[in-house]
Amino acid sequence: MNDKQSKSIALISVHGDPAVDIGKEEAGGQNVYVRQVGEALARQGWQVDMFTRASEPEQPKIVQHSENCRTIRLVAGPEEFVPRDEIFGYCHDFVSALLEFKDQENKEYSLIHTNYWISGWVGLQLQQKLSIPVVHTYHSLGAVKYKSISTIPMIASTRLTVEKDCLEQADCIVATSPQEKEHMRSLVSSKGNIAIVPCGTDIERFGAINRDEARKSLGIAADTKVVLYVGRFDKRKGIETLVRAVSNSSWHNDSRLQLIIGGGSRPGRSDGIERERIEGIVAEVGMTEKTIFPGRIGDEELPVYYAAADVCVVPSHYEPFGLVAIEAMASGTPVIASDVGGLQFTVVNEQTGLLAPPKDVAAFSQAIERILNDSQWQKQLGTNARKRVEEKFSWSGVASQLNDLYLRLIKQEPSSLSQASA
Ligand code: UDP
Repeated sequence: MNDKQSKSIALISVHGDPAVDIGKEEAGGQNVYVRQVGEALARQGWQVDMFTRASEPEQPKIVQHSENCRTIRLVAGPEEFVPRDEIFGYCHDFVSALLEFKDQENKEYSLIHTNYWISGWVGLQLQQKLSIPVVHTYHSLGAVKYKSISTIPMIASTRLTVEKDCLEQADCIVATSPQEKEHMRSLVSSKGNIAIVPCGTDIERFGAINRDEARKSLGIAADTKVVLYVGRFDKRKGIETLVRAVSNSSWHNDSRLQLIIGGGSRPGRSDGIERERIEGIVAEVGMTEKTIFPGRIGDEELPVYYAAADVCVVPSHYEPFGLVAIEAMASGTPVIASDVGGLQFTVVNEQTGLLAPPKDVAAFSQAIERILNDSQWQKQLGTNARKRVEEKFSWSGVASQLNDLYLRLIKQEPSSLSQASA
């Protein structure tokens, strides 16, 4: 195998299109992860093809991001938005379309990296057909998710089976935090290989603007106390906890307080419905005048919002990793986060921010007060946060770790791959 072939990878993200705008319904951390990993790998000499499902007929079928990195949209099922729990039925078509594309272009891949269980199933089919190593990242584990919701969807048993197969049969699983690895071992299977490689963030983009400039550009006064949320409108993100926590804090009646809730939504869709519900709660607790909903925050503005904030709050009920936390930290802003999942890995309690039990309004309220009441400490937490991201979570560092893992897997004999266990 020559070097060009040995560094050629198919990144598969059936439902998370890496080429779309982020921050809207079902487009969040996974899309960012795949896109950033793809681009960073290309800079390290990989030929990167990122495969996703075409979900709008007018979208281009191929998007070239850089010389060696492109998104390929395969037709599998209707070219329209399909909720992720319903996409599994089109996965056979996705596998066929990918193989057809590969043959037409005469492409050989040396490795496949799949994202989320739906793509994981696709990866296991391709592993059989192509005899190349498959790496999988879960992004979310059914076994964890189903513990926190009351209505279990029809697809649950299929998902749990596929997730177990992935862990036991893929050549390696990438856990993005030690906490996620623990969950895989305790809830999914004791078999299979697991490597820990965190998610990353762009440490040049986040942190490029200082607080004063950021506030000037957003028209926020120097003495305003800004509490920021960034993310999708989804009940599991816990925005309600944040609104109630701010409202219960001693800052509620202070005219300097500003709550910013950033994220896209479409009327009538699940995120539009959640945004309406949150707006209702904001009105109920008397915070309408102090709260801004800027909508989806684009790539250019995101670093500005993070830099302008006094504190960024990530109140998720569960979070396998949580990119927003490290983006805020890279921008020198302390984070208050739920004491769950990957947030326990990224946010160091009392050093880069504070952790609070999920859904615990009183604990979030107290944490917000502690940070807003002590500007000196807030600054110190922000400085520590930036340092932690520089040391652990830069995309180039993450891509180097993936590069080493991939090359190790490619060099191993297929038989030793399937027998290895962590
Ligand atoms: N995001 C964005 N604009 C928005 C809201 C969110 O670009 O208005 C991005 C955010 O910066 C982050 C991603 O969406 O990179 C969300 O990832 P995270 O892991 O925090 O949550 P997920 O959406 O995967 O649950």
